[in-house]
Amino acid sequence: MNENMKIILDKIKEYDKIIIFRHFRPDGDAIGSTKGLAALLKNTYPDKKIYLQNNDFSDYLAFLGGEDEALPDEEYADALGIVLDTATQKRISNQRYALCKELVKIDHHIPVENYANYEWVEEHRSSTCEMVAAFYEAFKAELKISQEAAKYIYTGMVTDSGRFRFREVSGETMRLAGLILDQGIDTELIYANLYLEEVEALRFKSFVYSHMNISENGVVSMFVTKEIKEEFNLSNEEASACVSFMDSIKGSLIWIAFIEGDTEIRVRLRSRFVTVSELAERYNGGGHACAAGATVYSKAEAEALLAEADALLKDYKENNEGWL
Ligand code: AMP
Repeated sequence: MNENMKIILDKIKEYDKIIIFRHFRPDGDAIGSTKGLAALLKNTYPDKKIYLQNNDFSDYLAFLGGEDEALPDEEYADALGIVLDTATQKRISNQRYALCKELVKIDHHIPVENYANYEWVEEHRSSTCEMVAAFYEAFKAELKISQEAAKYIYTGMVTDSGRFRFREVSGETMRLAGLILDQGIDTELIYANLYLEEVEALRFKSFVYSHMNISENGVVSMFVTKEIKEEFNLSNEEASACVSFMDSIKGSLIWIAFIEGDTEIRVRLRSRFVTVSELAERYNGGGHACAAGATVYSKAEAEALLAEADALLKDYKENNEGWL
């Protein structure tokens, strides 16, 4: 057992009030880990007050349910804050996290900064939900899980590991997934919620396949303008999902979506084998080796990022073998 787990459990026991946070624009892991941990703690400690306090949600994950009502500022002062799945302070969805008496961080991203009093960060984990599952396993004798908690945790494990496809998936991931699955969750229902699409969304997908660009060395990219969002009636979230449409093209080891907003252009970078996080860092971003995000402020800056991505891929292809 990691000693940070024990420190975190002791802190949880010490406080009567716990407030749980995640990053903004939450994905399945951010929602799954926060709701999973909250459910686990509520089952185990019915007398403690456990709150989820986050300012935004993702519509495609509505099947996981919502947030608690916002607490007034003064409620934070005697609380233990737990931030999950968030590497940097500025990405925390609710900036009032700083009002908590003490702070715990549980995360699997590359540690960019220390912002909590107690930090448990394991980069090799395929998801933060895997860490919540490991936390449950370590203290199984004391913690009480439920089917609801298991549903949240399993959904995050499934989504953040690319359905258990990514390299970070280990034997430990699968053993922990088995432990969570054994609680009796309806996996067909989870997958139906994750896969079923509206017909309009499929029309947008078809548009992306016919309008994406492929650079000289194989970087695939799609620039989603405000006009395209309007034409297909897309939220920013729906528009940004297009990055995953481009993930299975042979020879295209880097794929990038640009989503035009009112003042900035959100960039989502994904790759096979090639590290793109350093490229993202040069454009106001960061993230994992093969899944990173950035922000640019003009079409010209987007072109510059693309040119760097193309050079990166050229270099990778010239110096490596066995890529697909
Ligand atoms: P996204 O494309 O927004 O899903 O981001 C992919 C990964 O990169 C996620 O793990 C994010 O946490 C991380 N990421 C995205 N944007 C940033 C940023 N501006 N700074 C640091 N990490 C980021």
